[in-house]
Amino acid sequence: MKNQTRPFLPSLIIILSFTGIACSTVPYTGRSRMNIMGKDTENQMGFQAYQEVLGAEKIVQSGSSAEMVKRVASRIAAAADRDAQQRGEPLGFDWQVSLIESSQVNAWCLPGGKMGVYSGILSVAKSEAGLAVVMAHEVGHAVARHGGERMTQQLGAQIALGLADLGLSKTDQTTHDTVMAALGTGSQVAVLLPFSRAHESEADHIGILLMAEAGYDPREAPKLWERMVQLGGDQPPALLSTHPSHETRIQQLNGWVPEAMKVYNPNSTASATVNKAQPGLAPPAVPKVQGQPQNVQPKPKK
Ligand SMILES: [Zn+2]
Repeated sequence: MKNQTRPFLPSLIIILSFTGIACSTVPYTGRSRMNIMGKDTENQMGFQAYQEVLGAEKIVQSGSSAEMVKRVASRIAAAADRDAQQRGEPLGFDWQVSLIESSQVNAWCLPGGKMGVYSGILSVAKSEAGLAVVMAHEVGHAVARHGGERMTQQLGAQIALGLADLGLSKTDQTTHDTVMAALGTGSQVAVLLPFSRAHESEADHIGILLMAEAGYDPREAPKLWERMVQLGGDQPPALLSTHPSHETRIQQLNGWVPEAMKVYNPNSTASATVNKAQPGLAPPAVPKVQGQPQNVQPKPKK
């Protein structure tokens, strides 16, 4: 049975050695984080994932909802860009947003500033400020580079598991399976899950500040998440799956409202460029017509 403890030592060493690499602090909250991913790598992954989504989903190209989504995105992006400039750490994001026609109650912002909003969320958002709560939360994840941090964690867990596998290769299969299961579960629950919740809280915190700076009333934030939970029932929306408990969340958001009110600028008109035309990424300007080829090229602007 002593064999079972041996693999934990190299695993621990590997995990600890990660702490010496790429340690930095998260903007807004000052939390220390570990991220071995390069910004460019993260952004490239975000770009690729975004292109895949664009290819697979039906994108709402025009109309008041698409306009609203774009407006909220550009105002929040402007706030995030301005803060980053002031910190002397420009984000270097190429902001993109798409409204995806889907009943899903979901939204995301990939590394590098690629946003997706599912039309199913609009009825829960109820207003532009409600939508801003969700989108600012998602932008919060991207600004804090939670994607890279999570990949770093998963990489660490995988290396640890790989080493454990090596150390156990001479023990019998049952012991091997048991320990691997324990270690796998252990790293999932002990490392990944609480971190994930910490990320959600952090995105809430950054989000409420960003929306306020962008000119949206931060007092809408607790209200939006209240509505989201009420909607949930037995099957909460995907957006809530890894979030802190409802009570904790509302309590935290209410606690951050005074801080957000200090940066709330109801007259803000700043907006960043989103959906800058890019080769291969520009959505077709002509609505899709059934029976027609799908890859209609946009007409050049005169
Ligand atoms: Zn989130």
